[in-house]
Amino acid sequence: MKEDNYKHQGLRNKLVKKLAEKGIKDDRVLSAIGKVPRHFFFESALLDHAYQDKAFPIGEGQTISQPYTVAFQSEKLEIKPGDKVLEIGTGSGYQACILLELGAKVYTIEYNRVLFERTRDFLPTIGYKPHFFHGDGSKGLPVKAPFDKIIVTAGAPIVPDALTSQLKEGGILVIPVGDRTRQLMLRIRKKDGKLIREEFDDFAFVPLLGAQGWGK
Ligand code: SAM
Repeated sequence: MKEDNYKHQGLRNKLVKKLAEKGIKDDRVLSAIGKVPRHFFFESALLDHAYQDKAFPIGEGQTISQPYTVAFQSEKLEIKPGDKVLEIGTGSGYQACILLELGAKVYTIEYNRVLFERTRDFLPTIGYKPHFFHGDGSKGLPVKAPFDKIIVTAGAPIVPDALTSQLKEGGILVIPVGDRTRQLMLRIRKKDGKLIREEFDDFAFVPLLGAQGWGK
């Protein structure tokens, strides 16, 4: 059984303070970061790293995103309780937990089979139950579409048509788009059937693979 005690809560409170200083304003997002035990996603030898504002390797050449990035994307999604959200790139499952804490109904898809199986088996053991899918999320998740919100947690070369077409009217897609090493965070809102695009800061994600990503 993993332990979550006052020491961990203290470290989370410090992390929340740091994210607020870095510009995260949404109290609901900050409170979600304050609740999810990020150290549960780390091996015990690496516990010191869990509450640093840094990405960290999770195996298979992939990473658990930096807390600031998770908070930034979550804030831009404007999650309302009950929103149906698609996350592309399950990875460790940490972002999915934050979305669940925000009251979303979460569908999460992962391309890498090892990570998919590991996270599908692990997350429910710490009390988080999104709907897990294995496959190429660059094509969205047509069987469960449409979605209120879509979040892409890997760097895409373009905005995949499949994703904008799976957004509901009024829906929001948050996606980093650029080259294989740096991407610009975009927010795309579907309004009156049109796509309205906003640009934010630069980030560095691992590449989005698949048909509408960087390929295999
Ligand atoms: N959201 C994750 C978390 O909270 O730990 C971090 C995700 S990691 C930065 C990016 C993930 O996207 C990796 O696990 C990678 O295998 C996955 N990925 C890459 N291309 C994908 C695709 N086409 N469909 C689904 N997942 C993909």
